[in-house]
Amino acid sequence: MPAADFNMNEIHWLMDMFNTVDVGLVVLDRDYKVCIWNGFMENHSGMLPSAVKDKDLFDLFPSIDEKWFRSKSESVFILKNRSFTIWEQQPYIFRFKNYRPITGKADHMFQNATFIPLSNTMGEVGHICIIIYDVTDMAVNKKELEEVNRKLEQMSQTDALTKLTNRGHWEDTLRKEFLRIKRSGGTSTLLMFDIDHFKKVNDKHGHRCGDEALRNIADLLRKTLRETDIAGRYGGEEFAVTLLDTDHKGAEIFAERLRSLIENSSTYFDEQQIKVTVSVGFACFQDGFERYEKWIEAADKALYFSKKNGRNCITAYKDLS
Ligand code: GH3
Ligand code: MG
Ligand code: MG
Repeated sequence: MPAADFNMNEIHWLMDMFNTVDVGLVVLDRDYKVCIWNGFMENHSGMLPSAVKDKDLFDLFPSIDEKWFRSKSESVFILKNRSFTIWEQQPYIFRFKNYRPITGKADHMFQNATFIPLSNTMGEVGHICIIIYDVTDMAVNKKELEEVNRKLEQMSQTDALTKLTNRGHWEDTLRKEFLRIKRSGGTSTLLMFDIDHFKKVNDKHGHRCGDEALRNIADLLRKTLRETDIAGRYGGEEFAVTLLDTDHKGAEIFAERLRSLIENSSTYFDEQQIKVTVSVGFACFQDGFERYEKWIEAADKALYFSKKNGRNCITAYKDLS
């Protein structure tokens, strides 16, 4: 093949490849006007090369963050170095719809991009090329994995029956609050309560009725809490609440309101009405507690006193002995 024909063929092949390759190729001049726009860009934007040629990029795509894009590109023009962006920093440069069947959950294409300096024969960089990679599959997979992990973590911290924080996680939050108060001071109160004669409820109405009563109490508790309070299922029919920034008086009001709310409510299950009461104990934080377990012991002691004192009542740790 004569050399001239070979060169013509080569250019032809290169153009074919340029237009069919599965990445976006855009060349911009120093004024951010589009010089080259390949098939990928045409297919995803719906804009022909002739429609974008010599047009200002930011007029064509107002959704591009111009300040960010210019600062990214200027360093490529000036320093003559490549530059990269990944979807985690900037989900996309060109907002294209996502048509992929498997990753159809994403409504737009996630993109990684490389900015390359293009120099002329004098070594001057008057243009840059931006290569756009469609990384939607990878991004969606990663996001789904993160979501599953988040749900797993949440499940590992939640009690399945009542949907309250489980004991392990609740104790963890109490330990953190204990350390925070030790360091920075403050008043928080730990409250514990236990359903009275719950064994009899199960014996009389059945275990599933008992479960429903536990769920109902958890709902009542949730309604009584402030957003900052942390409630957990401490054991079978025992619950614990950390009342943040709450002193003796505030805790007493909370405890009495909760006790009376439970006393005056009913659980209905299988055409049966179940009424329960609770015994409550609470302990404000004291400097003398050297470990968070001492705080739990104090609230538990107050709860035990409520049981001995006839049940369906509240006791403050500080009033004991
Ligand atoms: P007290 O007033 O002294 O607390 O008496 P009580 O009967 O509530 O205490 P006890 O410790 O004797 O019994 C607790 C009962 O709680 C027994 C157990 O079957 C029941 N229980 C614990 N967890 C669950 C649960 O998840 N579902 C149901 N339905 N019952 C539970
Ligand atoms: Mg009980
Ligand atoms: Mg108990």
